[in-house]
Amino acid sequence: MKHVILLVACLCLQLKTQAINKDIFPLLNLDYPGLEQVKTLHKAGKEDEAAQALLVYYLQRTDIINPVINLKTLTISEREQKWADEALEHTFYVHDGYQPSFNYGKDINWQYWPVKDNELRWQLHRHKWFTPMGKAYRTRKNEKYAREWVEQYMDWIRKNPLTNIDREEYELASAGEVKKDVENVRFAWRPLETSHRLQDQINQFTLFLNSPSFTKDFLTEFLVNYHKHATHVLNNYSAEGNHLLFEAQRMLYAGAFFPEFKEAAAWRKSGIDILNREIKKQVFEDGGHFELDPHYHLACIEIFHKALLMADANGFRQEFPQSFIDTVERMIVFYMNISYPDYLNPCFSDSKRDSRHHVLMHYNLWTKLYPANEQIRYYATEGKEGRLPENLSKGFLTTGFFTFRNGWKQDATVMVIKAGPKGEWHCQPDNGTFELWFNGRNLFPDSGSYVYAGDDEVMKLRNWFRRTAVHNTLTLNNKNLETTESVTRLWNPDGDVQILVTENPSYRGLTHRRSVFFVNQTYFVIADEAIGTATGKINLHFQLCDGDVNIDPKNLSLTSHFKGESQVKLQCFAPQNTLLEKEEGWYSIAYRQRQERTAVAFNTDKKDKATIRFITVIYPATDSKAIPRISARFKGRAEESGKTTIEVTVDGKTQILEYQL
Ligand code: MG
Repeated sequence: MKHVILLVACLCLQLKTQAINKDIFPLLNLDYPGLEQVKTLHKAGKEDEAAQALLVYYLQRTDIINPVINLKTLTISEREQKWADEALEHTFYVHDGYQPSFNYGKDINWQYWPVKDNELRWQLHRHKWFTPMGKAYRTRKNEKYAREWVEQYMDWIRKNPLTNIDREEYELASAGEVKKDVENVRFAWRPLETSHRLQDQINQFTLFLNSPSFTKDFLTEFLVNYHKHATHVLNNYSAEGNHLLFEAQRMLYAGAFFPEFKEAAAWRKSGIDILNREIKKQVFEDGGHFELDPHYHLACIEIFHKALLMADANGFRQEFPQSFIDTVERMIVFYMNISYPDYLNPCFSDSKRDSRHHVLMHYNLWTKLYPANEQIRYYATEGKEGRLPENLSKGFLTTGFFTFRNGWKQDATVMVIKAGPKGEWHCQPDNGTFELWFNGRNLFPDSGSYVYAGDDEVMKLRNWFRRTAVHNTLTLNNKNLETTESVTRLWNPDGDVQILVTENPSYRGLTHRRSVFFVNQTYFVIADEAIGTATGKINLHFQLCDGDVNIDPKNLSLTSHFKGESQVKLQCFAPQNTLLEKEEGWYSIAYRQRQERTAVAFNTDKKDKATIRFITVIYPATDSKAIPRISARFKGRAEESGKTTIEVTVDGKTQILEYQL
């Protein structure tokens, strides 16, 4: 009996010893200040005690600041609490577009893929419920969240081993083409997801560290796993775009927060170097981000800002040049100028509509970084302090975003036009399109994106929302633009007649010239010209918001009867035989959410090289009955004289709109 007890005791001790992941020690710089005892114990072969000393070191560490989590003022939102509680049952909050969340089984199946949307599979591996569990643990003082987090964390490590695959393969993830285990690596270890965990695990470390479940054994597993993450991102940075920025900022965080790793300084430097390099490449000199997507523009400001927060909290701001700080400020000013009075941005490209609360929170952080910028202060304080921007209409000519604006407050008229260069991944082929805000409502919301990428069914949905024809622009035979490379021919943001003239070589043999006049800061006259030798059907598309719209095919006009005091009349003056035809209309402001709306096209035949011309008058008003009678016609031919003249008659009074290129 005595022997049995001794054997069990030995086994337990052995198991306990085995529970430490010894791989941690060679990864650490044991000469790092504070690790003296860890080094001594490790050298003496007392690895259990060394791990314990390491845990004590982290519990007592005060000189490294996590700028994201303040334990003294920690709160948890209702949503986060729900995610934390559901996670206890393995119902994981993975994606806003898939609610209610799916359950991943008692024995967690990390390969469960209920809808073949890549995002659902990728984002499972972001573990978005882990940090909320940490907040629940701290605010509720309930160990069950910590215990469960440790279990899930270790379960994930066991079931998602990292095997080597080519960097490019991470972006090729799709169903059924590769072996299951390779397929899983593509999702679980895509560098973007890996970097997401790299960042969030700093927060989990901060929140759970003092828990009894955060043992010395677990600490060693955590740090070894963390090191594997950082090494993987370092060796597999995405080639470009916002992914690379996210990854770089998170490497900076890894290096700054865990300086005890031998490679920590290299991680931090790598992140900073990439951010300093990429900000010059990805942000145009006018402050626009090169994916031409307002949502990712905001995300990129957030990335750069987060990098500065970590640098400020831990004393290495000097590693960012002044030009970096100035560029981020220009990005904020850009964002402010393309946003509406409700703080929200147009849904061009893959944009989603954010919440006012979230954007306001950003302005509050930004004003701390740029205390001298009165415009940012104005936005941050909702007008209580600071000053409104001095400009109204504003053009960003390199990015190709133009805002016509008559004010900054709720009752303003704001048209934002997208007519830029070839954009990167998230950009849609939509040159010349616009959104129009009037008196508190977006009257022409962009179709948005609805979903990103996945199997055929998902791609079909994505491609519908990406189509050129579901934007407020001109197509040939309803096809997507072949070229998206707009050139600004004229931009005049001042006076009673403000003008933008932009041209896109849309198709072989067909250039789309769009001239937008903002007249008396009240209404818009848009001249569209289809120029070139191409023949076929020319389609001029318009997409309104949801609500009642009277369509008058005889007069080629639309008149809204929406609820409230934001109305619009649109009338097209088109070549003979142009037909006003109703089209399928949807818009999406959030992932997998869509709203039906009125969409139309003015269709006409282009039989030869003669230019096809339309004039569209868009008149917003608080009451559609109060909109005056308007007619418009072309006088003069731009190709011959370089001069375009349009005659507009409003309630019998004629006005000439004119420009000379
Ligand atoms: Mg769009």
